[in-house]
Amino acid sequence: MSNEEIKANIPAIAGGTPIRQGKPTLYYGKQLIEEDDIAAVAEVLRSPEITCGPKIGELEEELCRITGARYAVACSNGTAALHMACMAAGITKGDEVIVSSLTFAASANCVLYCGGTPVFADIREDTYNIDIESIKEKITPRTRAIIAVDFTGQAVQLKELLALCREKRLLLIEDAAHSLGTKYMGRPVGSIADITTFSFHPVKTVTSGEGGACTTNNTEIALNLALLRSHGITRNKDIERHPSDDPWYNEQVLLGFNYRMTDFQAALLLSQLKKLDRFVAARAAIREKYNRAFADIPQLILQTNIPESETAQHLYILRLNAKKISCNRRQFFDALCAEGIHPQVHYLPVYRHSFYEAIGYAPNECPVANKVYYGIVSIPLYPALTEEDTDDVIAAVKRICEYFAI
Ligand SMILES: *Cc1c(COP(=O)(O)O)cnc(C)c1O
Repeated sequence: MSNEEIKANIPAIAGGTPIRQGKPTLYYGKQLIEEDDIAAVAEVLRSPEITCGPKIGELEEELCRITGARYAVACSNGTAALHMACMAAGITKGDEVIVSSLTFAASANCVLYCGGTPVFADIREDTYNIDIESIKEKITPRTRAIIAVDFTGQAVQLKELLALCREKRLLLIEDAAHSLGTKYMGRPVGSIADITTFSFHPVKTVTSGEGGACTTNNTEIALNLALLRSHGITRNKDIERHPSDDPWYNEQVLLGFNYRMTDFQAALLLSQLKKLDRFVAARAAIREKYNRAFADIPQLILQTNIPESETAQHLYILRLNAKKISCNRRQFFDALCAEGIHPQVHYLPVYRHSFYEAIGYAPNECPVANKVYYGIVSIPLYPALTEEDTDDVIAAVKRICEYFAI
């Protein structure tokens, strides 16, 4: 079917007025910045130190308090956090790292930055999180670490993953870009894996514009992360090989980067973190409303939540039940757009990006990830959505499902 034919065949066009007629388009996610957030940024901009100042330490203390981790290292973005995590984990040429397949490319790119080889594990068809059985099949003598993504905010099976990592002497890196505020068996994400990485991009639970952080309970890893963030340069005499009393002296002890966050970003994040509980509760309320609305629609398959995880719900994903719906994902997507609701797809399995194809990954690397990918759409979910907005989303989804019902 051509795109024109697809468009002619969607309910909002074929069957009447778009549900969001006269209202702004809803996107799958967006930040909520309030006046106190803006005031916090302005205060730092008027202060003498706009980077390398006191707000970074304050932020790191707060991240430790929220996650229960011993150490937090703030950085420029979630990708930098993943890169530093892989460096601190000692990943290098010849090492394999097992990575979730249904995730943002950055979860795997960080392994390549270090010269290592990402090995993609398949996902579970119910939760869409990494499948431990698939991990077991992919472990080799070269495997050094696992990067497990808390996809949509739902924590991975940390207990089982940690047990496997201890048995096989692997490091567990948790990509928690979706899951700040998530609890696993009552404990906040960030204090459980060997290293946890966060992103504070505007679509994530809280934002600093761009921003990221690593948390860990391991003192040596934390020291390394702090060095890697700022060129590998230190004034710490315990680390310097040629410590000196010269007041200007500092020493580069390893090859690091400039992955620093500014103080005004840290101030924005500190202000946002005060609202974390409120934002998570707002997301949970929308999830519950969607779950209730969609539970009995045979055209849809909903993500399964494991009881261990209390999710901060970054994304809400609908999966089409191909046996019960006559449209494909593209038609469903276009039909939502025509209603004034612009969804997104999370994600193309990483190994299917043309770059990964070019370096030798097969398009059928992970069959479950492929199968799930063809049916998924992320619908709007963020704290600023109103009751009326979520009612519109539900009405649009229902109308499309009825229209295409088999
Ligand atoms: C957003 C995201 C990242 C990268 O974070 P940035 O801050 O955008 O660099 C990494 N992994 C996942 C799963 C993400 O969603």
